[in-house]
This record gives sequence, C-alpha cells and structure tokens, in this order.
Amino acid sequence: MVSDDSFAFLLPVIMMTFGFVFLALSRHGHRQSTSWALGYLSAGAAFSMPFAPATIPAPVLSFVADGLFTAAFYFYGSALLIRFQRSTFATIRLTFCLLTYAATAVAVFVLQNLAAELVINDLTCATLLTFALAMVVGRRSHTADHALLMIAGLIVVETIARNVALVFLVPSYGSTESFLNSPYAFAMQAGASVLALFFALSALAASTLDVIAQYRSAADTDVLTGLLNRRGFERATEGLSDKVLSSCAIVACDIDGFKQVNDTHGHAAGDAVIQELATLIKARLPLDGIAARFGGEEFVILLPDHSLDAAAQFANGLRTTFANVDRHGIGINRAVTASFGVATKDHNEHDLRDRISRADLALYAAKEAGRNRVMLDGKPPRDATGIRLAAQSATSGGGR
Ligand code: GH3
Ligand code: MG
Ligand code: MG
Repeated sequence: MVSDDSFAFLLPVIMMTFGFVFLALSRHGHRQSTSWALGYLSAGAAFSMPFAPATIPAPVLSFVADGLFTAAFYFYGSALLIRFQRSTFATIRLTFCLLTYAATAVAVFVLQNLAAELVINDLTCATLLTFALAMVVGRRSHTADHALLMIAGLIVVETIARNVALVFLVPSYGSTESFLNSPYAFAMQAGASVLALFFALSALAASTLDVIAQYRSAADTDVLTGLLNRRGFERATEGLSDKVLSSCAIVACDIDGFKQVNDTHGHAAGDAVIQELATLIKARLPLDGIAARFGGEEFVILLPDHSLDAAAQFANGLRTTFANVDRHGIGINRAVTASFGVATKDHNEHDLRDRISRADLALYAAKEAGRNRVMLDGKPPRDATGIRLAAQSATSGGGR
C-alpha cells in the first residue's frame, strides 16, 4: 500500500497517535471519539503491516491490511453518523464489509490479482465513507464540521480517481507492481496521506470543540433547575445586539420566606419549590428570553422587546401562578409566594448590570411593601418612593 519507506514509518506513528488522542477524548464521555479512536488505531495497524516479520507471506499481510483499512473506514463512518445523530446502520454496513472482504479474499488468494484487490478494498472504504456522508450532509453543523465533511468528500473523490487511474494506467506500466513503484503512484499515495492527516486533524478539531462546548454548557447551567446560572446569564447576554439590549426588560424575582420553607419542611421540599418556580419560568419564557437562577431562591429574567408594563404583566402572571401551585404533594399545605422587581432601560444606565440592580431595588421594595407583589423601577432609579405598585395579592399572605 505504501511505496516509500519514510512514509511507511511515519504514517503508522501518526495514525496511532491520533488513535490515542481520541481514546483520551472518549474518556471525557465523548462517544463518537471512541469510533474515531478505533478508526485511527485500525489505520495505524494497517500502515504498520510493512514492519511485520518477513516470514509472513506478503499476500497474507496485504489481506490483513485490507481488513484493517476496511475496519478503519467502518469506524470513521460510525463516528460521522454518531456525530450528526444518525443511526449507525451497523448491520447493513457490517454485512457490506464482510461481503467485500470475502471478495478481497478471492482476489488475493484465488485470483492472485493485486489490481483487483486494491480496487475492491479502496472502493469498499470509499463506499463506507460515502454512505456516512450521504446520511449526514445537510445536517446543522459548525465550521469545523464543514471542514470535516469537505475533507471526507475529497478522500472519496481522491480514492475513486486513484483507482480509475490504476485500472487505466497499469497496462502502460506492464504490471500493477511496477505501476505502484512509479513516481506517479508515489505522488498519489503522498496526496492520500496528506488528506488522511487533514481528515484526522479536522475530526480532532471538531471533537475538541464539542468537548469544550460540553464543559462550557455544564459550567453555565444550574444543576438544580436546568436554567442558566449567573455566569451563563452573563455569557448569554454578552452577545446581545444593541437593539435587544435597549428594548429588553429585566425581571428580578425572589421566593418569599424561603428560609422558613426550608426550616419547616426540609431542604428537599425547598429544592422542589425552587424547581417549581424554574419550571414555570421556562414554560412562560419567550423564545428569545433568557432566564437564570442567580443564587439560592433568586432568579433573573431578561425579556427582549418588553416595555415596563409588558414585563410587569409577565411577572404578575408568574407571581399568581406560582402562588396558586398546589404543594400538598411535597408536604407543604400553605401558599408559598414570590416577589418581583422590574426595570427597563434608563437614560443614565451604563450597562445591563445597572438595569439588574434597579430591578433588584424594585424587588427589595416589593419585599418591604409586604411581599407577593410586583414592583416597577421608577425615576430617579434609586428612589424607592418612585417605585410604583404594579399588582398585588392574587392570594393572601406570603413572607413574614
Ligand atoms: P425573603 O422573604 O426576605 O426573601 O426571606 P427568605 O427567607 O426567602 O430569604 P433568605 O435570604 O433569608 O433565605 C434564603 C434561604 O435559601 C437561605 C438558604 O439556606 C436557602 N437556600 C439557598 N440555596 C438553596 C438551595 O439550593 N436549596 C434550598 N432548599 N435552600 C437554599
Ligand atoms: Mg427569599
Ligand atoms: Mg434571597
């Protein structure tokens, strides 16, 4: 398969290295990396065949290498299918591999036809990759994925071109062996190796980006509620356009008398109450809204394109629904309520943090005024007397 000693030495090492790197990634719970790892380890083993003991007959070595290359492309295909959330079609693909491997056996041991062996094996590999490509092309993907699919496509084209050349050029070289030793065949082999290297690099880039995104998303998510945490909220709002930033309202929310819920009914019941409020927020959040649990029993919600009144209505809907939840199931037989503060853009504000602070002040005023209510930020922003009462007590009580 390899027509120059330096390539023969380098390729197995490079492929095996990629295999081990992917194995390391798979230990981070990245399932498709296991397939990439098996693919590169198989390819590494296939490229190592020239180093096998000379006592093993060449056709046997070549046949083993064919099997390993088929395995490599089977696993590359699996990795692509897993990457783009497609079924792995394992039975169909494995049956195809077995049938073509049987045909390779006939070419190697019965016909003893090297050209036929090469063509069958290369086309098997190209078909495995083409099948996976056809199944995943058009799926939503990021830039690294585009590179990965493009290189996979190039590998298919290159493999087919190489085999067409093989079939048509061999006669002019006299034999398949002398063709394989020609500079032309060497150049094609070098090109194929470079593509294989780029394929591995783009697969590694795409997988590494996945693992980073996975950790990033975990770092931005609140475990108890599945909402964003404060850091996730900050990250999500960083990318907002000026238009959204200037037209969005902030709702700050805090459960009333929550310490008492914990003290009376236990921490687990407290957790369930926090989750309840988060579920209500998720259900009512507009598609472009951003909601986060900022701490203990405090939430912040960003509502794009909401006036103060519209956001107050949103908050009041949430307030009444939350106050009316039946909590007998978690052993709480009284109303648990929450207070809300709402703020929109102010001419003096520097950034969103200012708006959150004013929503917080309004929330604080709601607590002061007796809890279970929505208060709106007024002008001047820090003037609590300027905060208007938006809505009050759909249910009685709440708080101390
Ligand atoms: P207020 O009406 O003024 O908001 O009073 P409060 O009791 O709700 O407020 P306070 O800040 O005094 O109490 C908040 C409590 O929330 C204290 C803390 O133990 C509890 N807490 C914080 N995080 C969690 C959590 O994840 N789960 C549970 N169950 N409790 C939590
Ligand atoms: Mg509270
Ligand atoms: Mg609190």
